[in-house]
Amino acid sequence: MQEQKYYRKGFKMRGDIQHLLNRDYRSEVVEKIRERGNTLETDGLTLRIADEFGFCYGVDRAVDYAFQTRQKFPDRRIFLTGDMIHNASMNNRLREMGVEFLSQGFDGRPDEKFDEINAEDVVILPAFGAPVEWIGKLRDRGCIVVDATCGSVLAVWKRVTRYAQKGFTSIIHGKYYHEETKATASQTRKEGGNGKYLIVRNLKETGYVTDFIRGRIGAEELKEKLAHGMSPGFDPEEDLQRVGVANQTTMLMSETMKVGEEIRKAMEERYGREHLAEHFELFDTICSATQDRQDALLKLLEDPLDVMVIIGGYNSSNTNNLAIIAKERVERSYHIANGECIQGNIIRHKPPGTPLDPREEVEEEGWLPEGPVRVGLTAGASTPNSQIGLAIGRILEARNLSPEVALA
Ligand code: SF4
Repeated sequence: MQEQKYYRKGFKMRGDIQHLLNRDYRSEVVEKIRERGNTLETDGLTLRIADEFGFCYGVDRAVDYAFQTRQKFPDRRIFLTGDMIHNASMNNRLREMGVEFLSQGFDGRPDEKFDEINAEDVVILPAFGAPVEWIGKLRDRGCIVVDATCGSVLAVWKRVTRYAQKGFTSIIHGKYYHEETKATASQTRKEGGNGKYLIVRNLKETGYVTDFIRGRIGAEELKEKLAHGMSPGFDPEEDLQRVGVANQTTMLMSETMKVGEEIRKAMEERYGREHLAEHFELFDTICSATQDRQDALLKLLEDPLDVMVIIGGYNSSNTNNLAIIAKERVERSYHIANGECIQGNIIRHKPPGTPLDPREEVEEEGWLPEGPVRVGLTAGASTPNSQIGLAIGRILEARNLSPEVALA
């Protein structure tokens, strides 16, 4: 019988690896605080955790598939097309398990190892997915592919593919260097698509597009400003006549809504309300996990807090957006990569709104005020409970407390 080569649903071995996931990613501290309604009060310290935080369904599934894959193929070479998720400890854990990476960081170009893949190898596609061309190459090589692309990412791909097949250009609200956005942009070339896309990162970049649509700037100026996020040979005159808006799943919900609305208004002005449907489509593709975490944080921030701690990789898009939301309401907001960033009264953190780069980290002394203090906590979709538990332990330690005593 011919060996199955493409797996989309893992290997139904969760039961076999659950103990490994528990060992690496569970946290009793987090579970106990959850049982107490996500609040811990002890010796003048009130710790409140958002109702939704940490691992999302897509990340949970991708991590599960990676562990299952190792178990299923103990003797084969296993590769990942890039970071499994934007969490350094998780990626390091996979390296320890012998998983090799075919590209590194946001550069995202496949390295030489990609050309060495053969039919005996196993390649995992992470939750972000991978560009169409990469998947095609892997199929050509006849290797086993374990596809852990999140269903919410697939929903965006479907939308973008449909836009392209209808001859619409996809305007993607996302980060042009992010793996998910690169993979999404590549979907415009699938199944007879027109291959046209334009990536806008924020409202400022959206403003260049709407200025062009309204005739306020020319094609050359637009190309100059957004060159980093355009499909090859992009011709604004031709390619911005019919557009469909989609977004990276982890963007700031409020910003995504505004991006779509700004483009809609500009298209309506140019083509008239009666012709709008022939020139403009919009589909909100923020995933429900991102939305739930942003909503839960906003709810947490309704009550006054003195300090807010956000845990997650510095290159994690959804975590960075949580940090931006928190900073707007709580001046002392700290985005930390993991619990080890807290050492007594010193905290290492990435100031919200700075680029997604670990080198942005700064150190601050006296981060936790003396006396009664209210601390809020949340974590991005790629942060395991074990790291959240560690951070809680460090916060308690900063007040000379311990989880064992506080949660007794
Ligand atoms: S953040 Fe959303 S799209 Fe990304 S893996 Fe999680 S659920 Fe899927």
